[in-house]
Amino acid sequence: MNPLVIYNTLTRKKEIFEPLNPPFVGIYLCGPTVYGDAHIGNGRPAVIFDVLRRYLKHKGYKVRFVRNITDVGHLLGDTNEGEDRITKQAKLEQLEPMEIVQRYTIRYHDVIGRLGVMRPDVEPTATGHIVEQIEITKKILEAGLAYEMNGSVYFDVNAYHQKYTYGELSGRVIEELIAGAGEERRTLEGQDEKRNSADFALWKKAQPEHIMRWNSPWGEGFPGWHIECTAMSTKYLGETFDIHGGGMDLSFPHHECEIAQAKAANHGKQPVRYWMHNNMVTVNGQKMSKSLGNVINLGDLFDGDNKELFEGENPILSQTYSPMVIRLFILQVQYRSTIDFSDKALKDTQKNYFKFINALKGLKRMEYTEFVAEKHDKKLEEEILTDFEKVYDALNDDLNTALALTQLFNITKKINTFQNNPDKIGTISKETFEKLKNQFILFFEEILGIQEDKPHAFDELSASLLKTYQEAKANKQYDKVDAIRADFKKVGITLKDTKFGVDWAYTEE
Ligand SMILES: [Zn+2]
Repeated sequence: MNPLVIYNTLTRKKEIFEPLNPPFVGIYLCGPTVYGDAHIGNGRPAVIFDVLRRYLKHKGYKVRFVRNITDVGHLLGDTNEGEDRITKQAKLEQLEPMEIVQRYTIRYHDVIGRLGVMRPDVEPTATGHIVEQIEITKKILEAGLAYEMNGSVYFDVNAYHQKYTYGELSGRVIEELIAGAGEERRTLEGQDEKRNSADFALWKKAQPEHIMRWNSPWGEGFPGWHIECTAMSTKYLGETFDIHGGGMDLSFPHHECEIAQAKAANHGKQPVRYWMHNNMVTVNGQKMSKSLGNVINLGDLFDGDNKELFEGENPILSQTYSPMVIRLFILQVQYRSTIDFSDKALKDTQKNYFKFINALKGLKRMEYTEFVAEKHDKKLEEEILTDFEKVYDALNDDLNTALALTQLFNITKKINTFQNNPDKIGTISKETFEKLKNQFILFFEEILGIQEDKPHAFDELSASLLKTYQEAKANKQYDKVDAIRADFKKVGITLKDTKFGVDWAYTEE
């Protein structure tokens, strides 16, 4: 089997994955800024890194998975300028900032959980790590790579660049960054305080109206967005850890700044061994944006609450899609390629999803029966074993879930043959049959994390059964009547004959 290779954004090449302290693996994934509902662009990294985590666990590693909650400091401009996103939303909804944080954290957990994403081992919040952020800021000041100005502390990009390299992750050239920011410089508030337009805030002085504020050696203020991820990843994973993930849009400035902060605080020590970035999400070939009205929230996709997406002459969506269809859709594309959401593509995925689930259900029911007359079909046995090898190879090649799914799809064809001709099961050995069963379930359910979405049609199913019950009663088929009663009883439901007809109730004892 090939070793696991990962494309490292920092070195711009695929590298064999070797953890710093095996069997332990530390992963940090930038989590949500909780000021609004999660959209499909937030769903992608959550699912991709969930599969990475599951796969590493399967390989025997002890994984510590950290995904933060940004609940302060993420300003409207990612360059640390403008209003705090959470404070702004709090004003809009006339709530306390912490009510906004609570509301959208719960809603994030709900939709991401429905996508089958496991909860992180540690889920630190920025407001819970103010002390750590102040400590790192002090270290950077001591190293002479930051400066204080009117109660704010800024990272000195120029001074840093003379010692280390600023731009090593994103490939941005510092001279261009400084020159290019000239226009902005005159227009943005707070820029005058900076020595250089490329500098970014580690700590911001809080204006009198700013609610989220803490004491610091520089007066009352709040931390910058980039410093929180450095503080929290260092605290839970160490000064150097294995994998840092996130969307490609975060590589600059957010992750570039994380590297600079960590190196400045820790004598040039590289904080992360493998940087992994997933590519962007588009909708019908276009970038998602509020102005285009094509932002698809996960909750709307699952439940159809935002009618605008489903109405009008050319609606973006013709129907809702279940969370597991969306999970499969995300995994059908390798994470470094762009993924394009469209109604047609989702419909195709839904078809594939049903094919997969039907094969899975059939496989779980299937039992081995010895084939007496003939010898085993060695070629078929061989094929099944190679098919699974290919799934491993796909995942080992920079987590190519797209190729892994194609291979698994080929295997469903073999499963279907067995379903349609159960006699054929005996053409392979019991050992190969067990392998087929275990490996398919392992890859599909455990590693890719795709489960069966149970149909929500309980009401229709029970109505149809009640009808049969009434017919049986009218025809005096009492055996059938009793059997249906007993079946309902098994699932905690009692049938009631009332003068309004037959109805059901929860069994109370
Ligand atoms: Zn981050």
